[in-house]
Amino acid sequence: MDQIYLEQLRGKLTGINQQLLDLLSERAQIAQEIGHLKEKHGIPGFDPVREKQMLEELVARNTGPLDHETISQLFKQIFQATMESQRTGHKKPLLVSRKNQKADTIVTLGDITVGGGKPVLIAGPCSVESYEQVRQVAAALKQAGVTVMRGGAFKPRTSPYDFQGLGIEGLKILKEVASEFGLKTISEIVDPAHIELASEYIDVIQIGARNMQNFELLKAAGQVRTPILLKRGLAATIEEFLHAAEYILAGGNTQVMLIERGIRTYEKATRNTLDISAVPILKQESHLPVLVDVTHSTGRKDIFAPCAKAALAAGADGIMVEVHPDPATALSDAAQQLNIEEFHRFHTELQI
Ligand code: PEP
Ligand code: MN
Repeated sequence: MDQIYLEQLRGKLTGINQQLLDLLSERAQIAQEIGHLKEKHGIPGFDPVREKQMLEELVARNTGPLDHETISQLFKQIFQATMESQRTGHKKPLLVSRKNQKADTIVTLGDITVGGGKPVLIAGPCSVESYEQVRQVAAALKQAGVTVMRGGAFKPRTSPYDFQGLGIEGLKILKEVASEFGLKTISEIVDPAHIELASEYIDVIQIGARNMQNFELLKAAGQVRTPILLKRGLAATIEEFLHAAEYILAGGNTQVMLIERGIRTYEKATRNTLDISAVPILKQESHLPVLVDVTHSTGRKDIFAPCAKAALAAGADGIMVEVHPDPATALSDAAQQLNIEEFHRFHTELQI
């Protein structure tokens, strides 16, 4: 007998749950309409006086068995959830977001694609130092079948007394050597005034870690159609990194690649800390290709290979590594560039 009664009561509860759900949905819809109206007339969405009034009225009507505090808490939750749905309901997703574009963005450099499933290896010297130096690296890349070469012409250095790069002369060297060996090139640009001119010399514009939030540079990069390789800032969160990329896409340039290059932490065993978790997170949150720079993140060539493998296992679309014919004499990053022989070993081990 009790069992039948119990089932009846449960049935009633299920019915009430349904009614509550319907009412909550109706309430949220009305609140969204109110939200639109308020937005149209420039009235703030949250009205604490009205919320307090509604709560007081509800508590005054409450006859139990739930106590006033419980009723007040429950309705506060309902009000808050509705406010949040008002905010997210009309907030446009970022252009870089997967919510905005489901399919992966594929960056094309001639017949090379980045982000299409086949990982790419980008290698080359930290700085362009001379025609002969770049030529030696290019020959090694060609021999290994690596088709994208990097080389810095404008070098953002910690000290103003360190080698600052060959500037435009360096871009000219890259262009000449690349055309001889049939390679694509990447080089960092630091001045918005050079963004347009860069495409005459190089195939990809790198925006370095120190300039990740140089908003004028990002806006200029959005105005061209040259692919951009955007490095994560030294102390940038993933959210800040994605917003920096958003600046470029918002300008109209959709050919953007993200590259994790290590972040500052208290750990001293590596130059920076390679945030490997950034790779799957960026791949989930964004449709843009994600690469990992093993040189600047770790600063240790003895662990380039395992870190590169970890990056690829985590879903990276490519790896960047620095190579120099004679690292000991390099004008920048001498300690962390592979020599040609080490590069071949690294490349073989990676099997890209
Ligand atoms: C570079 O890639 O040459 C460079 C300077 O790296 P980052 O901006 O990541 O320090
Ligand atoms: Mn370097």
